[in-house]
Amino acid sequence: MQFAKRMDRLGTENAFVVLAQVTKLKEEGKDIINFGVGEPDFDTPLNIKKAGTRAIEENKTHYGPPAGIPDFRREVAKYVSKTRGIDVCPDEVLITSGVKPMIFYAIHALVDEGDEVVYPNPGYPIYESIINFVGGKSVPLPLLEEKKFSFDINDLKKAVTVKTKMIVINSPANPTGGILSQEDLEGIAEIAIKNNIWVLSDEIYGRIIYSGQFKSISSIPGMKERTIILDGFSKIYAMTGWRLGYGVMVKELAGQAIRLQTNVDTCSATFTQYAGIEAYRGPQDATYEMVREFRERRDLIVKGLNDIKGISCLVPDGAFYVFPNVTKVCKNLGLQDSRELQQLILHKADVAVLPRTSFGVKNVGETEEYIRLSYATSKENIIEGLRRIKNLLEK
Ligand code: PLP
Repeated sequence: MQFAKRMDRLGTENAFVVLAQVTKLKEEGKDIINFGVGEPDFDTPLNIKKAGTRAIEENKTHYGPPAGIPDFRREVAKYVSKTRGIDVCPDEVLITSGVKPMIFYAIHALVDEGDEVVYPNPGYPIYESIINFVGGKSVPLPLLEEKKFSFDINDLKKAVTVKTKMIVINSPANPTGGILSQEDLEGIAEIAIKNNIWVLSDEIYGRIIYSGQFKSISSIPGMKERTIILDGFSKIYAMTGWRLGYGVMVKELAGQAIRLQTNVDTCSATFTQYAGIEAYRGPQDATYEMVREFRERRDLIVKGLNDIKGISCLVPDGAFYVFPNVTKVCKNLGLQDSRELQQLILHKADVAVLPRTSFGVKNVGETEEYIRLSYATSKENIIEGLRRIKNLLEK
């Protein structure tokens, strides 16, 4: 069968490939501990679920405006204004079915064939996929373990050319759990302003943070008008399956993104938007409790990983991922890369993790190997999963 050439340029999210493998192994009767998935194991808070079901009962089940229902856009504008210390009006908000479509819209609306886009590497794989899909040139910005998975400003300066249209950032980050400091953000802002570059700032993990305060690049003077803020409900309100997120950007760009949404999705589901209103207006206790629990699990998993011979793991400051260095393990076992290790751990220890290779191409000169473990799973699973990995690797 012959498909359009552009399909060759489209990547994927390997987490879902591994998830399918895990499901299959479970169906075959295997007891798999899953550190692969990037979603909270908590349930959506009850008040939010009730708001969603109430909306269905009240027949809020018809098409809504493509940009989102006005009340929700107002609520999001208020929330983003408050949390980022900027002035956002409802016209600058586009409600989407999760954060992911907004990545697609922003890159489609702004990046022409041949334009360059700098993106974090290792990073969430969808950025690279969509940049390549539109015919842009994806330019990886190395995130470095020795900088707690931030970047070297000189690498960013080198990556930027006259063709750079956009810089993508993600803090706290998937897959490393790393956070960009105020100094990092100011460095990016200076380069973006000087070179007239857009910044796509994926802030989906902005409230899952364990030390310091969340900072958005949009708060830096001169940045609001060139930043597209991405945020949503999937992670902090455990609403991955509801598909609810949004983008905040200048009105002119929002207009273009709304046209894309009208072509692709019409609007995000109406009743989930009512649930979203409740998420922001209602009590936040469940979110604090979830972050408190994640912090305990983070400490447990970091300690457990560092107790395994050949593994070293930094303490991440945000999100719910750890990204341990497994170079020594790969070397000791004669494995070629993290992917071989991931397969070994899956089939010989019944534990699912994701390899470095799921998060972008190797950077030039990158010699280390890593795996990602999501600790959005119970402490019992963490203890048992690490016991199995230790048994396998220290045998
Ligand atoms: N951005 C990052 C960095 C993510 O890790 C994810 C999901 O894992 C997304 C975006 C997608 O979020 P959503 O499920 O709201 O589309």
